[in-house]
Amino acid sequence: ATPRFLHARVAALGSAFVLVLCDDQTEARRVDAVRRDFIANVSHELKTPIGAVALLAEAVTDFADDPEAVARFGQKMQRESTRLTQLVKEIIDLSRVQDHEVPASPERVPVARVVEEAVDRARTVADGKHIELSALHGGDWYIEGSFELLVNAVRNLVDNAIHYSNEGTRVGVGAKLEDERVAIAVTDQGIGLSTEDTERVFERFYRVDPARSRMTGGTGLGLSIVKHIVATHGGEVRVWSRLGQGSTFTILLPQAHADDITPGLAEAAR
Ligand code: ADP
Repeated sequence: ATPRFLHARVAALGSAFVLVLCDDQTEARRVDAVRRDFIANVSHELKTPIGAVALLAEAVTDFADDPEAVARFGQKMQRESTRLTQLVKEIIDLSRVQDHEVPASPERVPVARVVEEAVDRARTVADGKHIELSALHGGDWYIEGSFELLVNAVRNLVDNAIHYSNEGTRVGVGAKLEDERVAIAVTDQGIGLSTEDTERVFERFYRVDPARSRMTGGTGLGLSIVKHIVATHGGEVRVWSRLGQGSTFTILLPQAHADDITPGLAEAAR
């Protein structure tokens, strides 16, 4: 190569490098903005229950000689602390999955067990609302990843289906194969979502009706957690919904074939 040609190559490489650097900087700034936004949201969300607990504590002191009032305020304080605990737990869950804290050694997870376990854990809440919760899982399919995280994702969808439905309705969880991917769908006959809201529900802290969500113990983080868990497993979440007609949230995940499994794990899974 002539020196001139080399010079041109070096210059081209240099500008590509600068471009990459710029791209990195834009990305770093974006990540930074997202983080700042998240911290602002978290502080705001934590302030409400903490403020409530402080006010209630004051009220308890003021009404110290009225046992009925003390009991009432005490119960409210308990409710607010439960909410705080839930919020903190979900914030930790979310930051773990956001940082791609995937298990170092993924397991070969049977889809049927994920569905069964998620439904089992949600059973008491469903019964309390007289919601008929049923599970249907057809085949002997596997996903490579974390059993606990996958159950957490499906459980979040089932909990939402129950929370955003009226008493006496039905919630179904089903699994099937769709274009070589495992599809786990959670269907309800609940309040449904507008098209606009279906596009936003996966955003952190987004709630269609904050008052209703708060009443049912919602934090607005559940679906972000689902989205991240599913992304960590190489999949995606889809939603179909109509206002007043119910919703179907579907998790699509790559199916693990026996020979896809990380060496050693297939053995362990048997
Ligand atoms: P939350 O803790 O408030 O339930 P999520 O992130 O799980 O937060 O859900 C975000 C919002 O999406 C909820 O506040 C609710 O308005 C809406 N949503 C989620 N699942 C359903 C559903 N099955 N039916 C109707 N609305 C839903």
